[in-house]
Formats: sequence, structure tokens, C-alpha cells
Amino acid sequence: MRVFTITAPNQGEVREIPMPVPGPGEAVLKVAYCGICGTDYHIYQGDFLSPYPLVNGHEFSGVISALGDGVDGWQEGDRVAVDPTLYCGHCYHCLRRQANHCDHWGAIGDTTTGALAEYVRVPARNMFRVEDHETLEEAAFTEPLACVVWGVERLRVVPGNRVLIFGAGPIGGLLTQMLNLSCTADLTVVDVQDEKLRVVRELGATATFINGPDLKTQLMDRTRGRGYDIVLDCTGVAPVIEGMFEYAGPNAKIMFFGVASPKARISIAPFDVYHQDWEILGSMAINYTFQQARDLLAAGRIKVKPLLTRIAGLEEVAGILGRPKTATELKTLVRPNAD
Ligand SMILES: [Zn+2]
Ligand SMILES: [Zn+2]
Repeated sequence: MRVFTITAPNQGEVREIPMPVPGPGEAVLKVAYCGICGTDYHIYQGDFLSPYPLVNGHEFSGVISALGDGVDGWQEGDRVAVDPTLYCGHCYHCLRRQANHCDHWGAIGDTTTGALAEYVRVPARNMFRVEDHETLEEAAFTEPLACVVWGVERLRVVPGNRVLIFGAGPIGGLLTQMLNLSCTADLTVVDVQDEKLRVVRELGATATFINGPDLKTQLMDRTRGRGYDIVLDCTGVAPVIEGMFEYAGPNAKIMFFGVASPKARISIAPFDVYHQDWEILGSMAINYTFQQARDLLAAGRIKVKPLLTRIAGLEEVAGILGRPKTATELKTLVRPNAD
């Protein structure tokens, strides 16, 4: 079968490797769609904890093509989305609902062979059913939405909260919708690309601003100098993260959602955190939140079509990961199989 493989930092190619065979408790899927995520750029650039060579790709949907021994409740031909989280289920952290901090944590496509491939092998317990009325394109968004669900759980939104989001990419677009459904009073989104801001306005943002020299005045005017109750970064860009503290009001929750480089550093005043009663929150991947994301998508409560920019083939992946995203590019899905 054909797979995309990262062979060294900033180098990748399509290769032929043997078909995977499911072991006990596993399934093999014919991959339908696999999303390309910000993390894939980090992995490609050698900026993430991944071993090379690696077949990456962790946001995927597919159809079951083979089942290993001891797998109940599934049949060949069933349509699924897959939680890529590899967790043991019995270590200290797994037992405290911290699967994203499992002692043996890994993720399909980040630490083991992923879904930028015609076929992929997965633990059966990681598969989640895609309903008949859903498309497999939409189902490929379950993984990023499951990350957003975990972030929103951590935020504990209070009705009437005023929210500021930096970054109108696919995660910003999903967060905008989730927080729009959470009884927020204001949902302001900032980005450097006008076209992306147009899309988040369609998805429920109440105001959008270009990140430029007037931003501080614009945001302070909008909040009458009070700042926001929730400030979220979805860019992973250190200067943006450092700058967002300026817009946090008293008792604000400040969430780092975007994945920054492990080497990045920012400077903040501890006095401000104390004096403003701030809460600083991270949100790492998925923590048993995949079924919630499936339910939200199946119910049509979260729209993903406006976030889909294009569908590419396996041979285009190296080109996509090797250049910066264009101004209008949101989510690219890869379709590894021709049929
Ligand atoms: Zn991702
Ligand atoms: Zn564990």
C-alpha cells in the first residue's frame, strides 16, 4: 500500500509498504479522509517529539476492512472515525481521567504509523461509529473537535462570558461555534487574514478584527476598557500568546490552545496574575472527549463544511507541509485512496 512518510526534518515522500494486519483487539481501516493539522507541520519540521521515519496523520475517518481476533460489535464495511490517543487505561493517570497524560501516552500518526496511508491499523476501542446520514469528510473533523471539547470543558464557561479568540483557523472556527452555543455574551475573533475572519463571522463570531496597530484601541473600545472574561490563543505563536494577556479582565481565564514550539518562551508579570485573579489554562489533545465530538457532529450542531478548503492526494502532502499555509487555507483533507 502507499503511504506518505516523513523521513527527516522537512523531507517526506510517498512510499510503498506492506499492508497492515490487525492483531488481537485491532482493526484495519481503509482510510477515507485524513486532515492535515498544525501539529503535522511541527512534526514535519522536526519540532515535535516524533520518531522518524514516520507516517503521520491523526485526524481520520475510514471503513473497516479487516478485524483482528476478539473484536466484538463491529463488521467489515462499518464507517468509523478514530480517536488517535494511545493510552493504557490502567495507569495512575488513566484511572483519574487523565488519559492525555497516560504514562504510556502515544498517538496514532504522532508517535506510531498514522493515516496518511491507504490503510491504517488501529485499536478497536479507539473506533467510533459514523452515523448513516453523515459524510466521511465531516467525520474526519471529529478529532480536532474532540480536542476543542476538552478545552471547552476546562474553560467552565459562565453564561454571559465575553470571549476573545486569537486565530481564525480550523480550531478557531470550531471553538467559535462551541462557545457560541455556550451562552456567551461576546465572541470576538482576531486574525491577520480577512478571508478567515469572514468565515468565523458566518460561524457565529459577533465581532472580528485584523491583528494590527489599532487592535488594542479596538478591543478596549469594544469592552469599554474592561477586557474579556476568556482569552484564548489558537495560533501557537509566542508573541501573540504574550500579547493576549493585555486583553484579560479581572478573573479572566487565559487558555493556551495553539501548539507553540517547545523552545518558545514568553514573559508575563506574576503580579498581574495575582492582582487580576487570573486563571491560566492549557488544553492538551483529547481526554475521553471523542464520543462527545461525534454526538455534536452527528446532531449537526457544529458545522465543518465552511472549514474545508480542499481535498488533496497523497503525492501532494510533501508540497503542502513544505510551505506556509496560504491566506485562505483552512482545513485540507487528504484522500489517500483513489476510489
Ligand atoms: Zn490535529
Ligand atoms: Zn495510562
